[in-house]
Amino acid sequence: MKEITENKELDFIFKLGVGFVFNDFTTSPKNGNKWNKLHKATCSCMDSENPNRLKVEGKNRKLPKIFFETYDKAHEWLKTNRNKVGYSDCDICFKIK
Ligand SMILES: [Zn+2]
Repeated sequence: MKEITENKELDFIFKLGVGFVFNDFTTSPKNGNKWNKLHKATCSCMDSENPNRLKVEGKNRKLPKIFFETYDKAHEWLKTNRNKVGYSDCDICFKIK
């Protein structure tokens, strides 16, 4: 597991196409935990050409992201650390095989 602190790290992960990224909205109660999603590195939301891409730097605040090497490691961490607030797998990228 590794916290992502810059958008260019997201670009790098998308290019490699390996691993998983958790979009952590836990620190942003207004948006609610419904946005707490785990994405594959290959998700379209990771593509820098997507206008709705994931970003680490929001307009007024940081939007933390966390990288995991494997799906199992991600869910192990999420179960321990985000069970109370809730999380789920991305509806888009987890439907694509
Ligand atoms: Zn996704």
